[in-house]
Order: sequence, then structure tokens, then C-alpha cells
Amino acid sequence: MYLIGNGRLLTRDSDRPYFENGAVAVEGAEVREAGELRELRKAYPKAEFIDAEGGLIMPGLINAHTHFYSYLLRGFSIPGYSPSCFYEALAGRSWKLDRNLSFMDCVSAACAALIESVKCGVTTLFDHHACSAGPAGTLLGIAGAAEEIGVRACLSCEVSSRCGYAACSAGIAENEEFISYCEAAPCDRIRPLFGMHAPFTLSDLDISECVRRCGGRTGFHMHVSEGQDDRYVCMHNYKLSPVKRLSGLGVLGKDTLLAHCVHVDDEEIDLLAQTGTAVVNNPQSNMSNGVGFAPVRKMLEKGVTVGLGTDAYTSDMLESAKAFISSMRLTEGSPAVGVKEASKLLFENNAKIASRRFGRELGVIRAGAPADIVIMECSPFTRFTAENADSQILFGLSGHDCRMTMVGGKILMLGRKMLTVDEAKLRERTAADAEALWKRLEEKPDSEYEWSADFTSFQ
Ligand SMILES: [Zn+2]
Repeated sequence: MYLIGNGRLLTRDSDRPYFENGAVAVEGAEVREAGELRELRKAYPKAEFIDAEGGLIMPGLINAHTHFYSYLLRGFSIPGYSPSCFYEALAGRSWKLDRNLSFMDCVSAACAALIESVKCGVTTLFDHHACSAGPAGTLLGIAGAAEEIGVRACLSCEVSSRCGYAACSAGIAENEEFISYCEAAPCDRIRPLFGMHAPFTLSDLDISECVRRCGGRTGFHMHVSEGQDDRYVCMHNYKLSPVKRLSGLGVLGKDTLLAHCVHVDDEEIDLLAQTGTAVVNNPQSNMSNGVGFAPVRKMLEKGVTVGLGTDAYTSDMLESAKAFISSMRLTEGSPAVGVKEASKLLFENNAKIASRRFGRELGVIRAGAPADIVIMECSPFTRFTAENADSQILFGLSGHDCRMTMVGGKILMLGRKMLTVDEAKLRERTAADAEALWKRLEEKPDSEYEWSADFTSFQ
């Protein structure tokens, strides 16, 4: 049994949200009790004490949308690559990468992403995997990495019509087999979603096949209206907006996660709200790709559950939240917005999305909830109260202030040192795999890739 104490405790439990000098008793995989340190010391005198050293004890952070595989491209540049729009950025970089990934690249990338995330206080991640050259078994490999490192991970493999029938069929089979694996060998830290790329790279036939093979066993994880291309192709080919098209094909629902939704109209927002479909905003990625800022305020007002992700731009959820605040203020031309919404996305809605998918109450510290807890170094020089705690966190802390990460009662990282895996060894392997991948990418001429596939031909 552990007793985590000697710091401020922010529980996210509306009944008892904040303790100035708090503590959490952890027994096995769950929280036994949260309260005042003085009282819990008396109640659990034999518990092993984890000293927060005056820091902030809070629930682990949740990343609702990312791509582990793209971590191997950090620092990579393609000579002559200068995309003029979002579509060219996808075709010239992301799709070139996913055609060249080996099984071990996928596992190494997952290790890199997960270690960095754990060190930023992230305990649950939703990954959207792509490996169009041969995805067979890659989700199992990634699940193995997540299990070893100790995080909660919801995994999916994107299906797309863009690479032809064989790759599309292999993607469908990969999702189907992974869902069956999770059903046969349930692990409370690993969950599946059925992955699809985006409406503009999927034919109706292929989406219908995904829905049929998924069979209602889980929801879907896909990109929607990240750039205008998605909207243009759907309107051109199907005379339907992307969300309306997905609604007709049976993709929407309470278990489905749609990343981005930057370009959605009122009718689409109503459909998202009516079906309980969750949306994930990725502010840094959207700014980086120059695609715009999603109508988050309108979606929240209409009751859509909007969460926050990173889209692999960073592993640091607090960095993503800061970017969200700036992005919203810039878009709305108002310095008065952003903090309340960032808090709702990151702390409330990500917890809601993860709790639904994992079937446990995540993002909260209270008796009976899984012990997913982090300690952040936090020495504020201004007043810190229950009321301004979110502002203090969003403006004063970064993920790298994390000093301890615990998932299900197990300590994964303490004092910036990983305890579950040999970080130096994994880094060495990842660096070697990345180097080999970069050489393959550099040696393969761009002419071998489709830079401008004709999506208007999908019918
Ligand atoms: Zn994405």
C-alpha cells in the first residue's frame, strides 16, 4: 500500500475537490481514500510513503488523439518537400512514412511516444496507427509496448482506400483481429477502436465494410474535416457533408471519436450532439497544417463532448492546452475566452471519453477509482486555491514538471526515471530503427509515390 502526500491534492471529485495538504492512499490498483495528510497518516501508518515534496498531486493526464508512428520522423526533412496545402503535406510526408514502416519501427515508435508521454504525466492515450505497407500484427506489437511500459492505451489502425484493395483489406483485418484479441484476453489497460483514416480517402463501400466487420463491438476512431479537402471530396462525390455521410453509413455513436472536425456546419454539429459522438481538438497540429480552428464553442454549447489531443505534435498535454487557449483567443479576437474551455476539454471531457472506453472512472482521484495519479513539481509564487487551480496549472506548469507517474497503482516513473523499462536501451533501439527508416526514405525517390491521387474517382 502507498500513501502519496505532502503536497496540494486536486482530486477532480466534485464532492471533495481540493486539499491544501492532501494525501491519497493507494491499495492494489485502486484509490482507497483521498483526504487530509494528517488524517490519512493516522489511518494508514504502515503504508509506504511517497513524498510529493510540496508539489501538486492530481489525476494522470489523458491524450485523446495521437499517432505513435510519427515519432520516428522528428527532425526529419525531405529535400525539396514544400507542401502548398494540407493535402500535399499528408501525401508528401505522412503517407510516405506509413508506406515505409516495418513492424519493429511501429513498436520502437510506440516505446518512444509512451516513455515521453509518461514523463509528461500522461497515463492514458488514444493512438491512431497507420502502416499501409503491412499492418498485420502491428497493433499487438504496440499493445505489447503499452503493457510493458504500463500505460492505458486505446489502439486502432487506420483503414484507407487510398492504397488500393490489398492494403485496405489488410487494415480492416488488423482492426477486426485486434478487437477479437481484446475480447478474448481482456486487459483493463488496453482497449480497441476500429480505425479509419478520413472520409475523403474512403469509399462508401469500404466504410460500410468497416462498419460490418466491426459489428457494433466498439466505436470508430477517424479524422474528419481536418482540412477543406475532406469536405470538398464528400460534397463532390456524395453530395453530402462528411459528418452527414458518416451518419448515413452508421459510423457515429457514443463510442466513436472524430479527430479535428475543423470544418463542420451547424447541421453536422447537431448530428454529433444527437448521436453522442465525441470530437477531439488538436490545436498545435491544426495551426501547423494551417487548416484553421474548430468551432469548439458552438460544439460545446450544443452538447458535443469535445476532448483534447496532440495529433503527435507533442507529448505534453499542458502544452497542447496552452496552444488551445491562444488559438481560441486569436480566432475569436477575445482575451476573455479559452481557459474555461481548455479545462473542460482536458480535465472533464477527456476523462469522460476515456472512462467510457475503458469502463472505469478515469481522470478522478476518489475511493474505488483506478489509481492513475501524477505528482507535478509546483511551487507557485502567487495564491493557489481550488478556484484558480486550473489557471495555475495551464499557465504555470508543463508536462516536464512531472515527478511521478502511477497507473493502476503501479509507479511507472519516479524522479524523471522510468521504473518499468530500461529507457536507455529502448532509446538506443529506437534511434537505430529511426536511422534505418530515414535512410530508406531518403533513398526512395519521390517519383515512386502518388503525390496527387485522384480521390474524386472514389464512388
Ligand atoms: Zn491525427
